Amino acid sequence: MSLPRTLFDDDHKLFRESAAAFVDREILPRREEIREARRIPADVWTTAGDAGFLGVAIPEQYGGSDVDFRYNAIFNEELSRAGIAYSSSYTIHADVCAPYLTNRTTEEQKQRWLPRFCSGEMITAIGMTEPEAGSDLQGLKTNAKRDGDEWVINGSKTFITNGAHAGLVIVAARTATDPKGRGISLFAVEEGMEGFQRGRKLHKVGQHEADTAELFFENVRVTDDQLIGEVDRGFHHMMEHLAQERLGSSISNISNAKHILAVTLDYIKSRKAFGRPIGTFQNSRFLMADLQTRVDVTQAFVDQCIAAHAEHLLTAVDAAKAKWWSAEVQNVVIDACVQLHGGYGYMEEYEVAHAWMDARVTKIWAGSNEIMKEIIGRDMGLGEVRG
Ligand SMILES: Cc1cc2nc3c(=O)[nH]c(=O)nc-3n(C[C@H](O)[C@H](O)[C@H](O)COP(=O)(O)OP(=O)(O)OC[C@H]3O[C@@H](n4cnc5c(N)ncnc54)[C@H](O)[C@@H]3O)c2cc1C
Repeated sequence: MSLPRTLFDDDHKLFRESAAAFVDREILPRREEIREARRIPADVWTTAGDAGFLGVAIPEQYGGSDVDFRYNAIFNEELSRAGIAYSSSYTIHADVCAPYLTNRTTEEQKQRWLPRFCSGEMITAIGMTEPEAGSDLQGLKTNAKRDGDEWVINGSKTFITNGAHAGLVIVAARTATDPKGRGISLFAVEEGMEGFQRGRKLHKVGQHEADTAELFFENVRVTDDQLIGEVDRGFHHMMEHLAQERLGSSISNISNAKHILAVTLDYIKSRKAFGRPIGTFQNSRFLMADLQTRVDVTQAFVDQCIAAHAEHLLTAVDAAKAKWWSAEVQNVVIDACVQLHGGYGYMEEYEVAHAWMDARVTKIWAGSNEIMKEIIGRDMGLGEVRG
């Protein structure tokens, strides 16, 4: 038995029931088909939109329900049962892109984009990473140059989640050159714009359901109507929203680990060796106790972060702790679960094998675990001394 999670009230519990029913009905029966198609089908997004799952953070007048962050967390957790490809595609849309489109847009832009965002007709993506700039975002080379009333965008992005099918991509581009490299602005590049090309859908070792793509911009002309936030303040805007992205990642990490641990518990109760269930060997019992404790202790910290974020009190440093630690725990737990499944744990028919392949990237993306430790260490007053 794990501790009760006191951060959710009765309304949250009802919402969880409908989120769980959505996953059971719309995703689990189609998991194989979706994996083969290498994308989450458009009708899954629009069904989620119709049921009100995509607009939880969006004001009501634009088609959302504008409820607190715990609702995002619940839908994310339920999707993580199906696999983190689902929760990551969702969090990019609803946790990462949503705040830019609600907090950094004009009234006209909100009316233009948010209703389709909530209905799932327009999926969103964010393009920060480039072939030569990942952790070091200030090194990005995609640029937007002013030409009369327009901006002309040139460059490329890689590893972009939802990239192959997004109707709108928030693109970080350099608009000024200054020594600290802070002259970055954010532009909404939309499907069909001249010069906007999608490259290969990338072949990842896991998370085949998520469409992760390269994007190319060749003289893409946009007006100020496509600018998100202030000119040259894009880096600042990105930093503001990263805590929510990292919390979303943490929620998905730990929820997925918890689910795979439960699947493994069932498995080791029924699988027999030497005439007894393998779960009854002392090694299995100790290992499972170790894994369950890691999951529960991590969940407690992530829950504190969710509660703090719902009150707008989560710091970037605590989000960084939650992100790296939950990714580490998820990978330790799932690797041990593969071991407990024996050879079956290495077979694609088994959920644990997919979870193992899916999980490896959580230590790399959303800011790598090393970068998270940089943030935490610097906050402890351990920045580099420049001579
Ligand atoms: C499946 C997938 C989906 C993704 N989705 C998106 C998306 O939707 N949008 C987007 O913009 N990006 C996305 N990314 C990109 C992701 O955020 C980057 O891969 C990540 O930030 C790391 O950048 P990099 O791959 O360039 O690695 P690098 O920056 O080259 O880092 C390589 C290694 O060096 C280490 N390192 C780098 N700098 C330091 C340092 N200062 N100190 C210590 N170690 C350091 C890193 O921790 C890492 O271990 C995705 C990536 C993947 C794999």
